[in-house]
Amino acid sequence: MRPRRASLAVVLFVLISTVGLSTVASGAPGDTDRLEMYRATVDAAELQTLERGGYDVASVQETPAGAEVALVLTDAERERLRGQGVRLEEFRDGQGRTQRQRAEVQADAGFTVWRSFNEPGGLRDEMYELARRNPQLLKLKVLGRTHQGREYIALKLTQGARGVRDGARPAVLYASTYHAREWISPEVNRRLLRWYIDRWRANDKAVRRLLKDTELWFVLVHNPDGYQYTFDVERLWRKNLRDNDGDGAITSNDGVDPNRNHSEHWRYDDEGSSSLFPSETYRGPAPESEPETKAMVRLFDQVRFRFAISYHSFGPLLLYTGMADPHALGRRPHLRGPHREGHRPGGARVQPRSRGRPVHHQR
Ligand SMILES: [Zn+2]
Repeated sequence: MRPRRASLAVVLFVLISTVGLSTVASGAPGDTDRLEMYRATVDAAELQTLERGGYDVASVQETPAGAEVALVLTDAERERLRGQGVRLEEFRDGQGRTQRQRAEVQADAGFTVWRSFNEPGGLRDEMYELARRNPQLLKLKVLGRTHQGREYIALKLTQGARGVRDGARPAVLYASTYHAREWISPEVNRRLLRWYIDRWRANDKAVRRLLKDTELWFVLVHNPDGYQYTFDVERLWRKNLRDNDGDGAITSNDGVDPNRNHSEHWRYDDEGSSSLFPSETYRGPAPESEPETKAMVRLFDQVRFRFAISYHSFGPLLLYTGMADPHALGRRPHLRGPHREGHRPGGARVQPRSRGRPVHHQR
């Protein structure tokens, strides 16, 4: 069962991250390439201009006054849109700081939670360390290498992980960090993994039973290059680090949206994904062109997942692909979340159709 014809129920769970943003200046691209976050209230025609123009529309909220959008833009894009009459306002926190300023302050102070992929004690180290300390439970697989040579790592969590064939037991996949800047997603996923390990070690009966006959797979960082780049260079970077124009440098012209590169409905239209290099939804030169996508497909070739979830951040949305039946899912009590007032799987917040955003849907 491959993502391209997945009949499994795939769900994207979008987390709301109010936690700070960060960046460091070292190796930063030219100032005009730097990203900043804006908001604007637009009418339907302007919204279409934004989406068709390949701008990074991070969220859309319908209000009586029009669509309230959040945008991540370079300075050049900001000027272009202002020239077209879009009234852009910088996102500022309670202390009047823009997202970029806030990120710089936070990075200078040092992180208490966030860790990059590469740094000693970072997420890559942690995955190896967990596998080393839990050989009876955890198996680490390297499924590929990114454009910059980073490992694409998946972890299998099940009792006797290394003695049982992959995919031998009913399997579920927890994936995160398709989008580089969505730092809360690997953090949630990492804690989930650790929670299972801790509960198993504490002899929790339910967890023991679960891990005896179920495989839980974790891909904490689907986009390791992009994720690392958000620590080293540009906090608001979203895509991977394909050098689209082959000029040997990473600029705002580069990167493929890993969430638009799967073969299911690839290039379905120019709204759900883009053919433009600088677009934040650039789908790549071909379906499955990206090493991260290939690695994920490799995993789907080896394991027939019953269910998969892809964690993102930025909107309180629970999105299903066209393959899943949200109403049926909603009838299962253990899936009746997230626990938010007014939320109801199958309700207005669920987008049951996939428009070229296959396994991993939209944002
Ligand atoms: Zn995302």
